[in-house]
Amino acid sequence: MTFKAAITFDVERDCPGVADSHLGITKGLPRLLKILSESKISATFFITGSVAQKFPQLIQTLAAQHEIASHGFTHTTLDGQSSRHIIELRKSKQILEELSGQTVAGFRAPRLQITSRLFPALALAGYRYDSSQAMWLPHHRQLQLECTVVKEFPLLMPNVFLRFPGGLQVFQATLLRGKSPLTLYFHPSEAIPMIHPLRAAGVQTAGLLKRPDRWVNTGYPFLNRLRKLLRFLHKRRGLLAPLRDYLQ
Ligand SMILES: [Zn+2]
Repeated sequence: MTFKAAITFDVERDCPGVADSHLGITKGLPRLLKILSESKISATFFITGSVAQKFPQLIQTLAAQHEIASHGFTHTTLDGQSSRHIIELRKSKQILEELSGQTVAGFRAPRLQITSRLFPALALAGYRYDSSQAMWLPHHRQLQLECTVVKEFPLLMPNVFLRFPGGLQVFQATLLRGKSPLTLYFHPSEAIPMIHPLRAAGVQTAGLLKRPDRWVNTGYPFLNRLRKLLRFLHKRRGLLAPLRDYLQ
């Protein structure tokens, strides 16, 4: 085997803080699930508790083939600095477990905002791993995170690279040199063209235009590149599995 990798998705509102719609979930996610199913890949979905309550059937559908993990309850910062954070960490875990029938082991911090205090809080709330450390951020690299109970699966590369010119080539050239398991992360909203459907749904998109990482090459350009990336990984005969499989 040449490498171990995990494909992960953060499932939340389309653009927290900008667009509170759920078009990524209703329209984008089915396209992603089709690609995963064609590629026979079992992925990890980090889902907010509020999305799980809004789309309970979706959690059951995802749980049949994929790992369910937590992305907090409301997508607010959860860095373990207050007792309220531990309550919210427990709450999202409990909701996801009830709906999925799985034991939820994993957590990804909303907006990837983490501190070294997060890990004791995750241990208290019953999690076994985190996947929020962004290796491209200098202040993240300096953090001493892991504790005896909670493992870290760091993210290697910003997901938006894949959608920008030359991004696929960067992924293919550098990915396999990363620390195993290679953990990739994407959003269902990337699977739909972000500006037009949001405008059609009456969402104010002025704030979104200032964040090209949220809309450039979303929709079919993203889906095509993701397909190519998965084909590239398959050809190298590595193991593609959900993060929980790498806990031992
Ligand atoms: Zn998020």
